[in-house]
Amino acid sequence: MKKGKVYLVGAGPGDPGLITLKGLKALSRAQVVIYDYLANPRLLSHVPESAEKIYVGKKGGHHTLSQEGINRLLVEKALEGKTVVRLKGGDPFVFGRGGEEIEALLEHDIPFEVVPGVTSAFAAPAYAGIPVTHRRFTSTLALVTGHEAEGKKESAIDWEALSRIGTLIFLMGMKNLPRICENLLRYGRAPETPVAVVQWGATPRQRVATGTLSTIVEEVQRAGLSAPAIILVGEVARLREKFRWFDNRPLFGRRVMVTRTREQASRLTEALEALGAEVLEIPTIKIVPPESFKPLDQALKCLEKFDWLIFTSQNAVRFFRERLFALRKDVRALAQVRLAVIGAATGKALREIGLFPDLLPREYRAEGLIEAFSREDLRGKKILLPRAEEAREILPESLRKMGAEVEVVPAYRTVLPEESRKLLEEALSRGIDLVTFTSSSTARNFFRLLGDRELPEEVLLASIGPVTSATLRELGHPPHIEAREYTIPGLVEAIRKYFA
Ligand code: SAH
Repeated sequence: MKKGKVYLVGAGPGDPGLITLKGLKALSRAQVVIYDYLANPRLLSHVPESAEKIYVGKKGGHHTLSQEGINRLLVEKALEGKTVVRLKGGDPFVFGRGGEEIEALLEHDIPFEVVPGVTSAFAAPAYAGIPVTHRRFTSTLALVTGHEAEGKKESAIDWEALSRIGTLIFLMGMKNLPRICENLLRYGRAPETPVAVVQWGATPRQRVATGTLSTIVEEVQRAGLSAPAIILVGEVARLREKFRWFDNRPLFGRRVMVTRTREQASRLTEALEALGAEVLEIPTIKIVPPESFKPLDQALKCLEKFDWLIFTSQNAVRFFRERLFALRKDVRALAQVRLAVIGAATGKALREIGLFPDLLPREYRAEGLIEAFSREDLRGKKILLPRAEEAREILPESLRKMGAEVEVVPAYRTVLPEESRKLLEEALSRGIDLVTFTSSSTARNFFRLLGDRELPEEVLLASIGPVTSATLRELGHPPHIEAREYTIPGLVEAIRKYFA
């Protein structure tokens, strides 16, 4: 059998944006991914659904699988002919035992590639605002394992030499912090040498303690920091005071829940993350096919009898097109029909399938469409309205009053994504600071998902505008924050102001 290949990929230090393009490509083609405690699990969203994902994490010395076990697993999967990604926190060769894994692969002649990663040794200081070198302060830099001392009688570390190096970065050193400081002091490093400890660097959980060789042990204890953390010793640690940029952003350390459909969430999520928030996306709406496509299909078969076709959402356009194609028809079937859309986004969706809307209201809602149609003579006109199964009646009713014959057919349904119930529960147990609502339906569905659970009192609610706020009030949860401008940027700005 043909052997597979193993990619030893550095996942970066925690911020999923810090993986390399090459690493991402390897992930997207993986058949098996074997990953660690320190590799951000969010990176797994880039792995094909069908791929096998195996966690072999080590947390505080508790190995799910021993290093020998991991080596064996790598070999076994590669011998099955699989493309394997071994995803490791930071860089695979920086205290990552990547070398041992390669030795195991070589024993079986298994081909491999190494994709370096951004090591936490550099990224954690960078995210704490500390450049590991700086012309004015240091011209030498050393990476040291802080784990070594345990068990070994004779240290393999030359403390005398180390104490003369400008910047020292210790990994896995938290348990030995007192001994690291003692050793450096003993070999002549000044007690006032600045030290910074960065826990969970480059993640929303980042915490930093600063002090000197004589105070840092106490500072770390006071702040309650533990592994995983890097210890940085050297004059450059002073620069944090001036260079701090990551953990002082307005929403840093805040957990914000975004309640849109998966597809729509990204813009809001990105804007909140740029302000430092940790964002949890809980989809509250899922778009699915209607109970039956029969009424829509029936209408599609005799499109020429309609004078108008109205689209009130992008989803309606999407499902309309799907059914049209399923019936092996194309846009020529619409040659005789005039087209109306509710707003710009729906109009754009229509243009994407080669159709220009004939009518676009000034105000993007049902009332706006009704107003626009009031300038048309609708007497005896036949109108087709494919839309969500559960929509407001105001549009078809008003059109009928104007003399039109309106045929409403279900094109899709919005349902509660049951899988979000679990997401919500997990999020609540980890604790959240704020929930954002961008429509009445997200508000209603959020509280339906919540069910009998109580929302902790300190959780803040942010609404995109008065309509959504009114719904929240009806639900018994008045919002604490409301956007002044009813848009996503408006909502983000209102949240920023609140926390400023
Ligand atoms: N190969 C990894 C290091 C693995 S050793 C890399 O290049 O980053 C594990 C040690 O890395 C931890 O004990 C801690 O010292 C450090 N570490 C890993 N991720 C970290 C993070 N996000 N913040 C601070 N230290 C981290």
